[in-house]
Amino acid sequence: MKICILAGDGIGPEIVAQAVKVLDKVGGKFGRTFEYSEALIGGAAIDATGSPLPEATVKLCKEADAVLLGAVGGPKWDTIDPAIRPEKGLLGIRKEMGLFANLRPAVLLPQLKDACYLRPDIVENGLDVMVVRELTGGIYFGEPRFEGEKDGERYGYNTMVYAEHEIRRIAKVAFEAARKRDGRVCSVDKANVLDVSRVWREVVIDEHKNYPDVELSHMYVDNAAMQLVRDPGQFDVMVTGNLFGDILSDAAAAITGSIGMLPSASLGSDGPGLYEPIHGSAPDIAGKDMANPLATILSISMMLRHSFDMTEEADCIDQAVEKTLEQGHRTGDIVEPGARSIGCKAMAQAVLDNI
Ligand code: NAD
Repeated sequence: MKICILAGDGIGPEIVAQAVKVLDKVGGKFGRTFEYSEALIGGAAIDATGSPLPEATVKLCKEADAVLLGAVGGPKWDTIDPAIRPEKGLLGIRKEMGLFANLRPAVLLPQLKDACYLRPDIVENGLDVMVVRELTGGIYFGEPRFEGEKDGERYGYNTMVYAEHEIRRIAKVAFEAARKRDGRVCSVDKANVLDVSRVWREVVIDEHKNYPDVELSHMYVDNAAMQLVRDPGQFDVMVTGNLFGDILSDAAAAITGSIGMLPSASLGSDGPGLYEPIHGSAPDIAGKDMANPLATILSISMMLRHSFDMTEEADCIDQAVEKTLEQGHRTGDIVEPGARSIGCKAMAQAVLDNI
């Protein structure tokens, strides 16, 4: 399998280096060979080439079987021309690779239940939600859009638009994901107010006819936000559009209390998927061997599961991570106040030892 590595900025190169060690160790254990190519993205690419997403990067990503990304951005590039900001590299690669589905599991591991922001009785039965967010459509890309002046005052608008094929393909991803989990999908919309949401709901219901074994429910986004913090255990897979998914997936992730723990996958209809931790480049701790590498290591596990169908290998990584936490190893972001923490390399080494 060929994997293109986009280390990016800040803690990106540190966490990606550790994740690659884990991948190689799992490969050795199960007789798999992974080949790597490396390419520039974000601030590192701007510094080297003037563009946050050089052509060569797009080419290498498209030629690979999967892409592993660290993170992009940092204060160094905060004041440059917005047209070439590091984040443009991220949006650009998603678009170039046709990655329309973003899968974000928010899991509260029992070993880290004290890190959760919710009352213990609310998460008594655990928390394991998969948010499936539409990534290349909706209000972030809809036309017309406008920012300027009209009738003597400042004025701005965007358009939330979804075509049937965009809804159908993301619904499919959600139903397929549910089949590998607890078999339940909750589709989140605002169909009581928005025309676009009524189309969304109709198409999801229609696509559901192909998945009679999966249970489908619907929820308005305002209620979904409330239910997510009131009783997150009720959800298995949540599927929703770009804007609602952006907000709900961050909320779901944040309640687990461990931003350094959560992986994500971005998938298209075919071609390579892109795997990355949900956190950013953490400039405040970059270069200090303080980053938690587990979100990136768990992103590798998602890659093995979703792109390569290597379930045993993925399970092996997940179990090694859980064992590492059971043994009490903690990086600074997940350590209890006053307790001892270890660095990025030591945390990865503990996972390697447990594989
Ligand atoms: P951030 O996620 O980088 O950091 C938020 C806080 O969480 C910081 O205190 C950081 O130290 C901590 N943190 C994050 N990841 C961690 C890890 N693995 N281990 C330990 N602690 C960790 O978010 P931010 O500070 O808002 O953004 C910093 C930069 O990252 C910005 O330039 C932003 O645009 C960029 N960003 C990139 C991505 C991406 O590449 N996907 C996502 C979000 C933000």
